[in-house]
Amino acid sequence: MTIREQLSQLPSVDECLKSPFGTGLLDLFPRKTVLRAVREVIDSRRKGILDGAASDVSVEAIAHDIESVVRKLSSYKLRPLINATGIVIHTNLGRSLLSEKALDHVISTARSYTNLEYEISTGRRGKRYSHIKDIIRELTGAEDSVVVNNNAAAVLLCLDTFARGREVIVSRGELVEIGGSFRIPEVMKASGAILREVGTTNKTHPADYENALCGDTALLLKVHQSNYRVIGFTEEVPLERLAKIGKDYRIPVVADLGSGSMINLAQYGVTGEPSVQEVVRTGADIVTFSGDKLLGGPQAGIIIGKEKLISVIQKNPMMRAMRIDKMTLASLEATFMQYLDEEKAIKEIPTVRMLTETADEIKTRAKKILSSLKKDISGQPGMEVVPDESQAGGGSLPEINFPTFAVSIRPSHISVNELEKRLRLGDPPVIGRIKDNALLLDARTVQDNEVKELARRVRAALTM
Ligand SMILES: *Cc1c(COP(=O)(O)O)cnc(C)c1O
Repeated sequence: MTIREQLSQLPSVDECLKSPFGTGLLDLFPRKTVLRAVREVIDSRRKGILDGAASDVSVEAIAHDIESVVRKLSSYKLRPLINATGIVIHTNLGRSLLSEKALDHVISTARSYTNLEYEISTGRRGKRYSHIKDIIRELTGAEDSVVVNNNAAAVLLCLDTFARGREVIVSRGELVEIGGSFRIPEVMKASGAILREVGTTNKTHPADYENALCGDTALLLKVHQSNYRVIGFTEEVPLERLAKIGKDYRIPVVADLGSGSMINLAQYGVTGEPSVQEVVRTGADIVTFSGDKLLGGPQAGIIIGKEKLISVIQKNPMMRAMRIDKMTLASLEATFMQYLDEEKAIKEIPTVRMLTETADEIKTRAKKILSSLKKDISGQPGMEVVPDESQAGGGSLPEINFPTFAVSIRPSHISVNELEKRLRLGDPPVIGRIKDNALLLDARTVQDNEVKELARRVRAALTM
């Protein structure tokens, strides 16, 4: 057949849509989507013919391609995936998973009208933040609180409220960058506050802060170093001491905690990360932390502290632009309430559970993955459970490596990079990590209900 003859055999868009196959698709999917898929497939077949690739181009023959394009166009772009990296608070993978209780509360309050800003007892207008004020006070000991979109917004709001056009004293060792776009000097600039750096990269003394105080000083800011540590010949001013200086000179002290753990992690071998309660007890006037880091809740920025200062923050018109929605509020309320029973919180809040799980528990899950995997792959050598280390992530606990167990795979017939790619491109995608020419699937961040699916994905990737 000549190219011209082949082209004349291509069905028209209309023929495709009117065929039994086309009407079947139109019953299930939006017309726009089907139309786009039909056009795409016919176009690509036309190009194929022009490039000299002869093929059957009847409606029946291209139906399969059209259907897969329709399915691809109709699937969500934001998708669940299996995190086998071992990094618990993985910012690129969405940080914390919500607990079942948080999810339930979100669903029941999102499908219904609520008393979001309505006081049921009086029938009057109520306050959005009032619902979680008491539970936050009970858990942290802070007088008052307000919650915004994320911790970056929380810091910005504090600076804007108290230090616009005035000076904020920060140690040079704390001028950190957190995940690209959040850099303390830049946030400071954006808020209109003037950065007054004191001390050196490795050492800052109380006198450095005191000598920098002047009539223009609005705040003393302490920033959690988060994703890095200064080790060796170092000295920083503890928050207690800074709070004392603030009190003596009547300058508010703000602590940007970053992660903010509600429980004392020392009992789980994680030292050097004070709990939010301990930080409040230092006497800092305002403390801010993230909702979706160590707390294990939704994205949010939690601002807690002295009632007088919080009420000033609440009057800042910028609050309105940073306010949280009812779904965030519901999941925060549920998550905070879970901390009333710490033992249960550790088991039921996924982030906290994954961080406090023992190596033995993780080993058991890794073994389950491996045995499920081996079930019907015979003759696949190079699969074993190996000890390794995982990280908290999210700029939390950078110097701590958590002992973990992973399923290590050294494929015999494809490269390890090819296996990594097949798993990543699968459905659901599986994200692991490559180490020493093996693919490691860290069992710490694999959920129990994902074990079978994970094994299926790996089997499919190895045998496709
Ligand atoms: C993570 C972090 C932030 C930013 O918090 P988000 O909730 O991601 O906006 C700010 N400061 C510190 C110290 C952090 O660790």
